[in-house]
Amino acid sequence: MKIIESPLPGWAWDLIEAVERGERKPDLVRLIDWRTRRNAKYDRWIRQAKAGDFNGTHPEIAVHAIESWENRKASRNLSSSGRAYRDWWRPSGTITVTAGTEVLDQRMVLLHEIAHLLTPMLSQHDLAWRRVAARLYSKYGGPEVVAWAIEHERKPLLINLLRRQHPDLAAPF
Ligand SMILES: [Zn+2]
Repeated sequence: MKIIESPLPGWAWDLIEAVERGERKPDLVRLIDWRTRRNAKYDRWIRQAKAGDFNGTHPEIAVHAIESWENRKASRNLSSSGRAYRDWWRPSGTITVTAGTEVLDQRMVLLHEIAHLLTPMLSQHDLAWRRVAARLYSKYGGPEVVAWAIEHERKPLLINLLRRQHPDLAAPF
């Protein structure tokens, strides 16, 4: 790994190094842009409501609204998203991650994007990518990431593959 655009958690640095070493691809990830997900609009609404800016709303309703905004913010901030790039105008091996609050999800998303760097970009989430992703989740993420992916990856064909490879981790239907 060459360049880091933003503060990267130590475990993420270690994980990338482990994959680069294990896959014998020392320069696989050249640039990583790591951001933290924030749903600023909820903070703003909560702040305004707490400041008494109820717009004529009954205070009890405002308290209820604050609670529901806090819950919504927490659930929306939980998951991470990412992208991998190999475009000509960006350094090859660029990954951007918008990190949510759940670390297992961050690990899964980082490995998901690294799997894109190891397979042809145009292949998207085809069989070649799914095989690599399943292998990375298992080899570098470990059983916790595999179990998390079975429950949370929004890729049914990858989930099927993981279930077949890890019948012990797949929750019963
Ligand atoms: Zn993807």
